[in-house]
Amino acid sequence: MQKILNYIGGELVEPVSGENLDNFEPATGDVYSLIADSDERDIERAVEAAKAAFPAWSATSPEARHDILMRLVGLIGRDLDSLAVAESVDNGKPVSVARSVDIPRAMANFKFYATAAMHTANESHDTVGQNAINYTLRQPLGVVGCISPWNLPLYLFTWKIAPAIAAGCTVVAKPSEVTPMTAYLLSKLCIEAGLPPGVLNIVHGRGPKVGSAIVSHKDVKAISFTGGTKTGQEIARVGAPMFKKLSLELGGKNPNIVFADCNFGEMLATTVRSSFSNQGEICLCGSRIFVERPLYARFKTEFTARVAALKVGDPNDPDTDIGAIVSKQHFDKIMTYIDLAKSEGGTILTGGSSVRVDGRCESGWFIDPTVIEGLPHNCRTNQEEIFGPVVTIMPFDNEDEVLAYANSVRYGLSATVWTENLSRAHRVAAKLESGIVWVNCWMLRDLRTPFGGVKDSGIGREGGFEALRFFTEEKNVCVKL
Ligand code: NAD
Repeated sequence: MQKILNYIGGELVEPVSGENLDNFEPATGDVYSLIADSDERDIERAVEAAKAAFPAWSATSPEARHDILMRLVGLIGRDLDSLAVAESVDNGKPVSVARSVDIPRAMANFKFYATAAMHTANESHDTVGQNAINYTLRQPLGVVGCISPWNLPLYLFTWKIAPAIAAGCTVVAKPSEVTPMTAYLLSKLCIEAGLPPGVLNIVHGRGPKVGSAIVSHKDVKAISFTGGTKTGQEIARVGAPMFKKLSLELGGKNPNIVFADCNFGEMLATTVRSSFSNQGEICLCGSRIFVERPLYARFKTEFTARVAALKVGDPNDPDTDIGAIVSKQHFDKIMTYIDLAKSEGGTILTGGSSVRVDGRCESGWFIDPTVIEGLPHNCRTNQEEIFGPVVTIMPFDNEDEVLAYANSVRYGLSATVWTENLSRAHRVAAKLESGIVWVNCWMLRDLRTPFGGVKDSGIGREGGFEALRFFTEEKNVCVKL
């Protein structure tokens, strides 16, 4: 059976423990590969390799860093199809989604930061009247840690390591143990691209063992983390007293607000996507849909019909809309929330149960896309993150009311607003408690823009020059002339 090895000091190596974890294919429920079950000894080796690589890498010109990262872009592009299949097997998502979203966006991340590194500038201040000049250096931090989740595996992994490497840092990274395959394939491409040994080290294994060893290591200067809010709290508890820089991209419970004057056709098509893309396992999915009352009945009928027509099936099938849920544990969690919604008085309009997909996927973990109505905004189903193919729909009567509903959760990652009224769009966007607001669109990304959440959705922003700055330390130099 294929083994997923660690990538340390430029080499693919077994974990010190010699132990492995099972890696499951969600569509079949079968173990299909083995993952290095690493621990703090592997992290020690990875940090040593990263420390040894730092002096040379941080002194490498931005052009040279650019050239290596662009070679990686070319190699990912060459392997796009096989990487997409690997991502789908590992995660359960349709191959079509991995081919059109995950892998192209991983390439875009490297491309963006390869070039961004060549366009950074330091500030200088002419200190008029005191005959001095100040300039501010931004120097790479050193060894940094990058920890990522399972929902968009290579896409979110590269969203962290690309700016870190481009900024001149060296990295100890950990992909999710639930979906480690494409990070492993990336390590092979890094070797082929000629990335110097130790610049990127990828250590596989469980979060509480490997992830926490990265966070608590005294020589790791910063942690860029994407994952659940609870894990983010644990990382802050350990990392903050050590004065590490922290970027925490956490959970969400995003509102999708539909005003009666919206462009109905566009709203409907996008809302089906923003609810159920990637099995609803995108932190940006809009899981609470608020619809202005005059439109509610039409929305309910047409949305439910569209959702009921989505095809749940084998991720390899090009006609599949909804693939498998990433793990048995997550499948059970989502089913528990559907039961909770019923016990809270919700009515299931479509879905609400698991699905058996005949043939090779008969033991896989599939759930019908589910639409629920009749729940108040403040019940648990509407307050807690489910992170699956489950949405609720609720009517509202005016702007203030819907803003109160939308902002009533502990999370604040993203929000969507549908209206043709320009003034209202700006007014509502300004009052929503979230880091990202989409007006008349969803998941339209410009990599230059800040990405992240407020409240329990995290601290810090990824994207743009902000991410490059995160991986650097400012130093001001004041020179008396
Ligand atoms: P998770 O928090 O369980 O795991 C994320 C990563 O952290 C994994 O690599 C895991 O091994 C590691 N980890 C676990 N415990 C750790 C510890 N004690 N110390 C260090 N690392 C540890 O999250 P998940 O289940 O993989 O992902 C789903 C969550 O991620 C959802 O809440 C989702 O909203 C969130 N998410 C957020 C964003 C965003 O940009 N805000 C994007 C995608 C996913």
